[in-house]
Amino acid sequence: MIRFEDLLDKVRAYSPDGDLELLRRAYVFSALEHKGQVRHSGEPYLVHPLEVADILADLRLDVVCVAAGLLHDVVEDTLTTVERIQELFGPDVAHVVEGVTKISVIPFSSSEERQAENFRKMLLAMVDDIRVILVKLADRLHNMRTLQHVSEASRLRTAQETLDIYAPIANRLGMSKIKNELEELSFKHLEPSAYDSLRAKVEARRRTTEGVIEELKATLRGKLDDAQVPVLALDGRIKRLYSIWLKLRRQKIDLDQVYDLVALRIITPSVKDCYATLGIIHQTWSPVPGRIKDFIAMPRPNGYQSLHTSVISEHGFPFEVQIRTEEMHLRAEEGIAAHWKYKEGRVGAGRDEQYFQWLRQLLEWQQEVRDPQEFLANLKIDLYPEEVYTFTPAGQVKVLPKGATPIDFAYSVHTDVGHQCVGARVNGRMVPLRTRLKNGDIIEILTTAGHKPSRDWLAHVVTARARNKIKHLIQEEEKGRAVELGRKLFEKEAKRFDLPLKALLDGEALGRAASEFAVQKADDLLAQVGYGKVSARQVLDKLVPAEQLKEKAPDHPVVSAVKRALSPDSGTDRIKVRGADELMVFRARCCNPIRGERIIGYITRGKGVSVHAAQCPNVVNLMYDPERRIEVEWDTGTDSASYTVRLTMHVEDRKGMLAELSARIADINTNILTLEADAGTDHHHARINMTVEIADLKHLEKVIKSLRKVDGVIDVERAAAPR
Ligand code: MN
Repeated sequence: MIRFEDLLDKVRAYSPDGDLELLRRAYVFSALEHKGQVRHSGEPYLVHPLEVADILADLRLDVVCVAAGLLHDVVEDTLTTVERIQELFGPDVAHVVEGVTKISVIPFSSSEERQAENFRKMLLAMVDDIRVILVKLADRLHNMRTLQHVSEASRLRTAQETLDIYAPIANRLGMSKIKNELEELSFKHLEPSAYDSLRAKVEARRRTTEGVIEELKATLRGKLDDAQVPVLALDGRIKRLYSIWLKLRRQKIDLDQVYDLVALRIITPSVKDCYATLGIIHQTWSPVPGRIKDFIAMPRPNGYQSLHTSVISEHGFPFEVQIRTEEMHLRAEEGIAAHWKYKEGRVGAGRDEQYFQWLRQLLEWQQEVRDPQEFLANLKIDLYPEEVYTFTPAGQVKVLPKGATPIDFAYSVHTDVGHQCVGARVNGRMVPLRTRLKNGDIIEILTTAGHKPSRDWLAHVVTARARNKIKHLIQEEEKGRAVELGRKLFEKEAKRFDLPLKALLDGEALGRAASEFAVQKADDLLAQVGYGKVSARQVLDKLVPAEQLKEKAPDHPVVSAVKRALSPDSGTDRIKVRGADELMVFRARCCNPIRGERIIGYITRGKGVSVHAAQCPNVVNLMYDPERRIEVEWDTGTDSASYTVRLTMHVEDRKGMLAELSARIADINTNILTLEADAGTDHHHARINMTVEIADLKHLEKVIKSLRKVDGVIDVERAAAPR
């Protein structure tokens, strides 16, 4: 077991001016907090944080990082709070410990490759201090080293998670030493029999192989000496079991068929010496075509630099050679940790930012890029991931664009979940549906059968999927309403001529007539009537002989007004669309604009141009699609027109009120089309709805003004047109 004093000596050696007192206090605190706890191995728990800190010290990381290693489990495993850590050890240590704790509770659940990639990206996206990852990797490495002590189920789970998540992260960060050890240990626990038999076979060949390695080294050293190329180190080794195993599996071969078990590594003082060494190697042995790789000129995305080649030995088997400088070697082994060496004082925020940009760029990098130009071009754009990583309560990752809301999340689960979404819990708490989701959020969607999305949602979604599904449903609903409206118009028209409605609607006649209007079914035809593209009369003309369509007595005034309001050409001749005369135009029911008001046109799907008052609240919602906005103006040519306007009045309930209101309206030569009163719940007030014929905005203002003057009228408001 490692002693704290040894750890202290190690840190002192590379960081003589570091705050070693902080380390000592962290050690004492951790010992106290973990007192009485034991590891599965039976050892005192404290061994674990000590070993983790030691791994970090081997990487020569700063005191904050090593202290965080000592404290990394106290928040998760004891009653200590992050606040307490901050009080005792300062904000940096507290921040790292908090980050490690957060990562530990992520519900990792799937070994599916795509999911694993999402987990890796999310984990790194959550991290705002690279030291969090370094401590987490050290933690995982020690847990893997002691994995034999835990139950089989958790052994398999941890090893798989390590192989899927942590080893690739170490690789992304260029930390090959840690990556290799994590892979070897995962392999050992996941495939124990394959591991054991492979190890036995390699051991059986070890003596011969090691002899070969010594021979190769001696040959090469002689050649390098002759050419006076300086070399700092010349190592030969048998490859790692995991990489041999991958090769056996990939090529479906047996170990006896694997010849390149051997790899040489040469460390030189300078880049020039690397290339000189490569030349000498190629003069000594024949290179295998296509295996020469210059990662010095074209570094890997994770910063790895080296020259690689494979050559054929005099015995006829191939082996690999890696050549690099000492500095490159350090970076290959330690990756980002080599960049993150202890520094006197604080690392500035700007400097931090650069590291994270670099880090995040690495995450974006799914595959290695061979072309350094492309790599650099990509480095400039997309420095930050545009995604958030969220979870279903079952632990499945959903990747959404930045700015996504629970509505986007719901639609990403299932269309019906989206449509029926009525609320959301994020991390167990109810939130508004417009809430922007954050990395690591766990989202539970509440649904109600039969619930429908509202148009407002369109302002709160960022995914194309959610947007399209919502729009589609709204269009379907609109069509449903158009069919209803069309049917009513058609019924009304049929009644005028005393025609047998049932026969007309139920028979196949309507369906047949549909084709004459270039639509498929009876419902489509009714929708056309509802949308105002075809009039009910036009449809009747196709269904009924002309002599049956003789006009009867004129309509009651209210009926004709309603008809005017609903008939397709109502108002069409009074609004012009700039630059397009052919378009069908109608006044939107929500605001029912009248002459004199500022108006805005919006191209609907299938209904022509709907014209809204510029102040209409719906306009704001409609304009999410600016391409469908169109300029419209009142036509100055005709002015005999009138508009149906609905007014809602809040009045005191008194005798003669209705009569007085009617009289006032008549005084200013205005037609009342409908008038209805609702008694209020308190018997003192009433609501009156009135539909009047209005020539223009001025006229309307006059009407409202005179109504307001009536004694007992509290308020007069213009209301949306009746549905
Ligand atoms: Mn731990």
